Amino acid sequence: MSKNKNVVVIPAEAVGRDHKTFGKREEFKWSEAKCTACGRCSRICPVDAITVDRTKEVTKRMRSAPCSQACPAGIDSSRYIRFIGEGKFSEAAAVMREKVPFPWVLGHICKRPCESVCQRGKYEGSLLIRALKRFAAANDNGQWRQGINVAASSGKNVAVIGSGPAGLSTAYYLNLLGHKVTVFEALPNKGGKMLSSIPDYQLPKDVMNAEIEIIESLGVEIKTNSKIESVATLLNSGFDAVALAIGVQGWGKSLKLPIPDSQDKAVINGESLIKTIEAGKELDLGKRVIVLGGGATAFKVALGAARGGAKEVHIFGQEHIGGGEADAWEVDEALAEGVVVHSSSLFYRVIVEEGQIKGVGAQKVRAFGYDRDGKLGYEPLPGIEEVFTADSVVSAMGTPGSSDGPMEVRQGVFAAGDAVNEQRSVIESIAAARWVASNIDRYLGGDGDLDQTLAPAESAKATTPLREFRRKFPSVVPVEQVKTSDGSLAASEQTLSASAAVADAGRCLKCDLSYDLKNYKLDTGVCVFCGRCIEACLWSAITPGDGYTVAAEAIKKTEQADGRKTFSYVLAILVITVAVMIAAILLPKLFG
Ligand code: SF4
Ligand code: SF4
Repeated sequence: MSKNKNVVVIPAEAVGRDHKTFGKREEFKWSEAKCTACGRCSRICPVDAITVDRTKEVTKRMRSAPCSQACPAGIDSSRYIRFIGEGKFSEAAAVMREKVPFPWVLGHICKRPCESVCQRGKYEGSLLIRALKRFAAANDNGQWRQGINVAASSGKNVAVIGSGPAGLSTAYYLNLLGHKVTVFEALPNKGGKMLSSIPDYQLPKDVMNAEIEIIESLGVEIKTNSKIESVATLLNSGFDAVALAIGVQGWGKSLKLPIPDSQDKAVINGESLIKTIEAGKELDLGKRVIVLGGGATAFKVALGAARGGAKEVHIFGQEHIGGGEADAWEVDEALAEGVVVHSSSLFYRVIVEEGQIKGVGAQKVRAFGYDRDGKLGYEPLPGIEEVFTADSVVSAMGTPGSSDGPMEVRQGVFAAGDAVNEQRSVIESIAAARWVASNIDRYLGGDGDLDQTLAPAESAKATTPLREFRRKFPSVVPVEQVKTSDGSLAASEQTLSASAAVADAGRCLKCDLSYDLKNYKLDTGVCVFCGRCIEACLWSAITPGDGYTVAAEAIKKTEQADGRKTFSYVLAILVITVAVMIAAILLPKLFG
């Protein structure tokens, strides 16, 4: 983006993300990242309560548009959409390739989290962001290749296990950073289970193969029919790092997830409690107990804790840890005693504060790995970590070290994609791959910077913020009825026509472009709470706060009271006037 001369580019980390409130009772909320400083609210306000202090300089705020924020890989959708709007389809494809190596595949099957948050959805419907991606990728002449930089050889070798979207994306980025990358795929076909299992009418094989060929043409070697049984063998045979992208089959079986702080001395060792349980003595572990592990020891301890008077007992189990499996009767008895079993792909960490157990945090992660100093790093998926408080945390995951397995994540080994998060989403896998590639590069001595600018600067016209709003309905995505392999009929989306793509791109509200905003003021002392500013804001930057309804009702009541007062005055004047007139008529008659 630094190539763009028409706008000042503000990197994502420097975009102001303040959420201000206005008024003593927080009558209004205002979001800095959403405000484009267009001034519509200020112009429409009947009592001049709003001041938008701005210059005419246009800024492009990275990852401020809702579509780009929602994209796990951070594709700059608004920018490629503007290129499509100008008929520059290859330039649009270049923007996508700055963040993902599979734009055409994504154009067919992405779960499109961007569309559900598109600001245009507030009006006639979201932009057809996925269909636009598919259109641009299908009409790409490959000019982005002229701008791509494959770094000089670093002399490092990286093995990637798995050739699904996570594996191939990891390989693609590491290759660009100068590392020699070999991808090992257990299956005879490239693309992994995720891509290969998608029916042709949703993702034609030639689309997938075309994008894999591009990755290979840049230097990545893919070895099919190559099942890897142990990462240790790879590390001992000359690879400097390994990326595990082994898909769903890895989850809970061969891949191990670490539980940070599970070895802390405040955590009780489950094995040490077994003797007490077997002697028929009661366990006193407090009211809330958490047991880590999914095997026999974990269930014995959980049952003992529940019978010992604990009000709440949770087992956080991951099948691959703990060694011996619990017997069915142990599981049944634990459940009957009210033990709650959490067995999922969540990433757990023990929370210890000042030597005291606080509980266990659980969240989903995209990817993880250890740095050179042995420190665990991970990329959480958006969403808040759920914290389970506890008086005691018991580790029943077996003796440390005894759970070493063929796919253990240790120093030099990183895990991404379905193997970690079970998202089964190509864009999530690519986002995870970006984290892994960046962290492997750092592990190997690089700076981990994956970003390259592949698209040219945008035109001054394209980067002019939206001036007026006209109703425009979405284009229609063509759909064909096709016969599937089992003979049934299915709807198959087709590529948009150029005119439909350009028309739909023209609906974009350019949420990422803003005038240079110096100050935004709203005087609630003057405001009459008519709500026109809220309605006028195309970007939902100014919205009602908690105190808005009360303030609006108070104004309404005052107006009604004022109205009643005025009516009483008018009535009184009328009565007096009539009385005077009657008196004027009657008095002369009575006394005349
Ligand atoms: S209107 Fe345009 S910039 Fe805004 S969210 Fe939708 S596609 Fe993105
Ligand atoms: S709050 Fe909305 S209407 Fe007001 S200046 Fe910002 S973007 Fe424009």
